[in-house]
Amino acid sequence: MSILIKNVLVDGKEKNIYIEGNAIAAINDASSGEETVGEAEFVIDGKRKAAIPSLFNGHTHAAMTLLRGYADDMPLHEWLSTKIWPLEARLTEDDVYWGTKLACLEMIKSGTTFFNDMYWYFEGSARAVAESGIRAMLSAVFIDGFDEVKAKEQIKRNEALYETSKSLSQRIVFSLGPHAIYTVSKESLYWTKDFSEKHDIPVHIHVSETEAEVEECKKKYGMRPVEFLDEIGFLSPRVIACHCVHLSRTEMELLKRHDVKIVHDPASNMKLSSGTLPYEELKRAGLYGNIALGTDGCASNNNLDMFEEMKLASLVHKAFSGDPTSMPAHEAFELATCNAAHIFRLNAGVIEEGKLADIALLDLKKVNLVPNHNLTSNIVYAANGSCVDTLLCDGQIVMEGRKVKGEEEIKENVQEVAHELVNRASA
Ligand SMILES: [Zn+2]
Repeated sequence: MSILIKNVLVDGKEKNIYIEGNAIAAINDASSGEETVGEAEFVIDGKRKAAIPSLFNGHTHAAMTLLRGYADDMPLHEWLSTKIWPLEARLTEDDVYWGTKLACLEMIKSGTTFFNDMYWYFEGSARAVAESGIRAMLSAVFIDGFDEVKAKEQIKRNEALYETSKSLSQRIVFSLGPHAIYTVSKESLYWTKDFSEKHDIPVHIHVSETEAEVEECKKKYGMRPVEFLDEIGFLSPRVIACHCVHLSRTEMELLKRHDVKIVHDPASNMKLSSGTLPYEELKRAGLYGNIALGTDGCASNNNLDMFEEMKLASLVHKAFSGDPTSMPAHEAFELATCNAAHIFRLNAGVIEEGKLADIALLDLKKVNLVPNHNLTSNIVYAANGSCVDTLLCDGQIVMEGRKVKGEEEIKENVQEVAHELVNRASA
């Protein structure tokens, strides 16, 4: 299919964007009268809209939309062990399918076309993503609880998933999801490292999220989490380390040396009082290009709006550092777009010829986008997800005029599915 977006604002100028297949084939000045390449099958009126690269959610647990508002205002470990894990033990693949459907819908409605996920019932998530039209890197939660039998089961399951993932939609990428060093044995981390290296598979892991995790690691292994991961040879450019709140200078240097990718989750870290990513220190260590932004799951955020996440990221660093120049708007925007595209190996994250047609059109008539002195500033500090009017992913329209196919059915079904899940857990 070919699509022409006419008279749309790109980097402050009115342009025509011509899309062929899944990529941006040409961008011309709208005023030059220059003809675009061929006749498009579909035309979108871009007047009073701005085209920006659609957003990347670097870390989430999509189906946790089902647990939105279920348990709040608790410390992380108590929250996980008394509320989240008991409920998750009752989950079915169908629950995960509907929870992920809702997550994809919410992300589409707020301009996100890629998310990096770790959750139970991989097949349910994969089905939902394939239907949604957006992209995801999916991993199955790998927790062995230091039990040899469980470890063997998880390894078998991941080997099988890797094989089946080859026949999934090309918008889905398989990754390995060892949950964290406090839930996965050293032996399983060795296996993850070898399997990842052998097949060039990304590894999605929670690292140094809380002070308690660091203290436990020091007690158990005699060193800090990143030092431990380095010691066992786990660190590599394929590792996507989420949170990274508590890092020593040595650990930052190790992350740099191994070209490890980092995801910052400001809302979740603030909500669980975990602290915040040492952003300026990581930048000084040369890791800026390796940092993306994520929402984390809906039980600890409690939404998937990356516009909100960009604003919170920028504000938290200004607040913590006492420096109002920390994480300026353009950096927060890059974390959610081009930096993330680099981390997740997608030829996207900017509006340029030859890039994937993953594009969000912002409605410049929205009251919070008026006036438009500086669009990046408006995007980060003034906008929210509802400013996105139209969304394209892989050259296909997934939302137009804020309408998404099947929206009402998804919301109705999730209402029921979530209600039944909570009933089942309390029975
Ligand atoms: Zn997480």
